[in-house]
Amino acid sequence: MEKRVKYEYKELLANSAMRFCADNCTPGGDSGDISIRDPETGYIYSYPNIKPGFSFYSWRELKPENIAVCDIDGNLIETEYEPTIEIPMHLAIYKARPEVQVILHSHPKWSAIFACARKDIPLTLAEQALALGGETKCAEYAPAGAVAVGTNIVKALGKERNSALLANHGAVVLASSISEAFMRSEYLEHAAMVACFAELLGGAVSISPDEILDPSVFH
Ligand SMILES: [Zn+2]
Repeated sequence: MEKRVKYEYKELLANSAMRFCADNCTPGGDSGDISIRDPETGYIYSYPNIKPGFSFYSWRELKPENIAVCDIDGNLIETEYEPTIEIPMHLAIYKARPEVQVILHSHPKWSAIFACARKDIPLTLAEQALALGGETKCAEYAPAGAVAVGTNIVKALGKERNSALLANHGAVVLASSISEAFMRSEYLEHAAMVACFAELLGGAVSISPDEILDPSVFH
């Protein structure tokens, strides 16, 4: 069967950009990015690398025709727009986690505080265990765009967690849809803010995943 580029994925991504900005995932409107994998073809659709001379400078102006498309090895399927410079990290995550369909890479506020302190966000709230797969680990530092960012983030994510921090940079959340990615991104920011203030009140008290729900809930 011939693989084809699907306009609906480009539309999905372009339509996500306004919320990406509204949810404070992208200070300046041109940082961070989202990608989506088509499970049928394996093609990765992503926000493009914004270059001088383009007709847009903010994700607010992103249109379906600006979306970049490559395969899992980074080969361009369409050449007009190159993927975000963080595409090596997205591809490393897609390779390590075959179940993942969407990656949201944000430059958020509260999570960035932990990323810059190079500290993990402890598991303190139920939604972290349920949506994020537990605590959020901070990956070892590597410069933006380097292949090592992907290697380090894959290690921090492991096989179960759906979020990780990029040291001195930002965050990623993994999901099966764009709406789930935004929900998880909100949970991550909420957890980071709560943990930050709990630390100021004398220290955030972590819990373990099996303390979250009473066993009777499962019967
Ligand atoms: Zn970034």
